[in-house]
Amino acid sequence: MASKGSDEKFQRHRRVKLCVFCRNNGEPESVFKTHILKDANGRVNCPVLRAYTCPTCGASGDDAHTLKYCPATQPTIIYSPGIPDNGVKW
Ligand SMILES: [Zn+2]
Ligand SMILES: [Zn+2]
Repeated sequence: MASKGSDEKFQRHRRVKLCVFCRNNGEPESVFKTHILKDANGRVNCPVLRAYTCPTCGASGDDAHTLKYCPATQPTIIYSPGIPDNGVKW
């Protein structure tokens, strides 16, 4: 009855703070769990991504992104964060 330390995996929430950019790059947890990709204001918080300059539109720093997420290459996709998809309360 001395088992311990296994509860953490069952307490994952969807809003866990980690950097998906560094995680996708194959960085260790000690790296991608120390920061988040973007803050609440939508500004890039990842130092790796901030240093990256988009070759398509030249964005970097607060507005940095990879080609995959470049708004210049995906003009028709409108992403609306913060709007729940279910449970409309009127
Ligand atoms: Zn990162
Ligand atoms: Zn871009």
